[in-house]
Amino acid sequence: MTAAPPRKRLHSATRLLHAGAPALRDGAGPVNVPVVRTSTVRFENTAAQADHHHRRTAGERVASYGRHGLDTHRALEDAVVGLEGGHRAFLTPSGLSAITLVLLALLSPGDHALVADGVYAPLRRVDSTLLQRLGITVEYFSPTHDDLASRLRPNTRLLYLESPSSLLYEVLDLPALSAVARDHGVTVATDNTWSGGWFHQPLSLGANISIQAATKYISGHSDLMQGIVVVDSPALAAKLSTAYEALGLTIGADDAYLALRGLRTLPVRLAQHQRNATAVAEFLQQQPQVSRVFYPALPTDPGHALWKRDFSGASGLVSFEFRHATPAAANAFVDALRLFGIGASWGGYESLALAAQPERLREHRQWTGDAPVVRLHIGLEDPRDLIADLAQAFADAAPAL
Ligand SMILES: *Cc1c(COP(=O)(O)O)cnc(C)c1O
Repeated sequence: MTAAPPRKRLHSATRLLHAGAPALRDGAGPVNVPVVRTSTVRFENTAAQADHHHRRTAGERVASYGRHGLDTHRALEDAVVGLEGGHRAFLTPSGLSAITLVLLALLSPGDHALVADGVYAPLRRVDSTLLQRLGITVEYFSPTHDDLASRLRPNTRLLYLESPSSLLYEVLDLPALSAVARDHGVTVATDNTWSGGWFHQPLSLGANISIQAATKYISGHSDLMQGIVVVDSPALAAKLSTAYEALGLTIGADDAYLALRGLRTLPVRLAQHQRNATAVAEFLQQQPQVSRVFYPALPTDPGHALWKRDFSGASGLVSFEFRHATPAAANAFVDALRLFGIGASWGGYESLALAAQPERLREHRQWTGDAPVVRLHIGLEDPRDLIADLAQAFADAAPAL
């Protein structure tokens, strides 16, 4: 067998496909990383145990207990670090726990954090139920309307963003926002779930931390809950590691395997999500009942130029605003859909619809409308069937729209 070409020369899709491939033994071996399930680790002798412990506390990624994760976890971490271009990854039991980990690792009593108003809404619950109790102040701001520099305080430790934002997909100028924060010694974390880590690499644009709900596109099959945090430096890895250990976070090897399996097809799935979502977004734009379609890949979207600059593609999330409908009529429209499931979450192969709650929309400063919004996740079905389903729902709910 000829030697493999140097990894750096390979394109990212190729690296993603081969990341973590197990070495051959006796001339043969499996394609896939084995699922190494364990609660504990055995050592040859006490000296080996002490050596492992020492190396681990010095920051090396060796396991001395099941909670630290073994080969399957390592393979997934390496693949995600390769994808996001960071220094180290942390695997958590859900996307929300990944967010909470970052907040708890970086914020102490008396600290101030600036959080973009369009972020994944349950972060506000972490703030109101946990951070406030710890004497940490979170201030929500509009990253497109407010001047970031004037919001920074001497005790600001964290700038927390999400681009595009949840629900309305507002694209942020991440390089500009990060530059201001970094000038003031403020760490920048951003939620990168929308892009799956494939269409957007925030660490190369100035962010220090990229967070993903692997529950969504990395899993891709609606069968996994998982969060991933990637940091850009050993200093941040040490901070995250301390909190991660203190919180006793870990994931099961089977879940690490599922995420790794999802990663292998991430590029092809996302390309198809984009094709289907673009077709649906263009259809929605032509509907008289629709006043606005939120999808950064549309040339009419206000974030289109930034999206083109900082992203290599768009995901399957499309929201739209009705021109006149009442919330009840928007619900009737969603109820009239036959192919779309009604539900939260997204990122799987299947299409979903959700009527957005008005209180969630009002949290976004860029929101100026007052008509109801429906969020669609466009899955991998034939887009002609999705469009036909939407068309029949518009017709069915027509009197109310
Ligand atoms: C779903 C989601 C999360 C949370 O992920 P869970 O695994 O459901 O906890 C975080 N951020 C964004 C942008 C999400 O869409």
